[in-house]
Amino acid sequence: MIDIMRKTVNILGVNVDKLTFAETLEKATELLKSEGASAVFTPNPEIVMMAKEDRELRDILNAADICTADGIGVVYGSKILGDAVPERVPGFDLACALLERISKIGDGVFLFGAKPGVAEIAKQKLEEKYPGIVVSGTHDGYFKPEDEDGIVEQINASGAKLLLVCLGAPKQEKWIAKYQSKLSVNLCMGVGGTLDVLAGTAKRAPEIFIKLNLEWAYRVFKNPSRMGRFVALPKFALEVVKERHKKKS
Ligand code: UDP
Repeated sequence: MIDIMRKTVNILGVNVDKLTFAETLEKATELLKSEGASAVFTPNPEIVMMAKEDRELRDILNAADICTADGIGVVYGSKILGDAVPERVPGFDLACALLERISKIGDGVFLFGAKPGVAEIAKQKLEEKYPGIVVSGTHDGYFKPEDEDGIVEQINASGAKLLLVCLGAPKQEKWIAKYQSKLSVNLCMGVGGTLDVLAGTAKRAPEIFIKLNLEWAYRVFKNPSRMGRFVALPKFALEVVKERHKKKS
């Protein structure tokens, strides 16, 4: 469903919501209560750069019900473009806040993605962290195309209202867009490595890095193989500056 009241900023072709964390959580909670599968995506600079080259991904992001400014780069980008989003809305934090809410409402969540076994550990950890949470089902993220209809059936049969899809970008966005009309959940979120962090197989950066907006630097430091992916950051900054000049002239 298209929300004509949405206030967004266009960052290199991707419409990102101008909402605070609290406002995003309220809107996502409303979507969680409404029938029909809504989609929430959490683009960081790397995803925005992917979408610049991949029209299908860009169209999917722009058809979402909410696109949050996941990385600090997106926040700065919006400032440079002269139309700032109020703050960073990290996908992981939003997913956790929604999981806490759903644990109080009593509706179920389905955990989809990550390596075999990770979603089950995340389920146990969530049951400890949010007593009362109903994890209706899990499925790993390493499947064959011919398994996909069965996965959709499993999700629908579980009765879950919230679906976390953690397949990495752009796989998760494309998977959600492909099956959105067949899913009987109310809200699908594409939230990358969230299950790994919940399960403890990957760690979030220490608080100080998050406060200083240096979470990205910590992730590169801990996992130098990610370095290649982070070259998207300076490219993103350059493109934003170019866009700003275009707007001015
Ligand atoms: N993943 C998956 N299926 C795939 C590829 C990746 O389930 O075919 C999972 C991977 O195991 C990881 C998650 O997707 O749990 C996200 O990985 P990444 O760290 O690349 O995502 P980010 O949070 O950086 O977007």
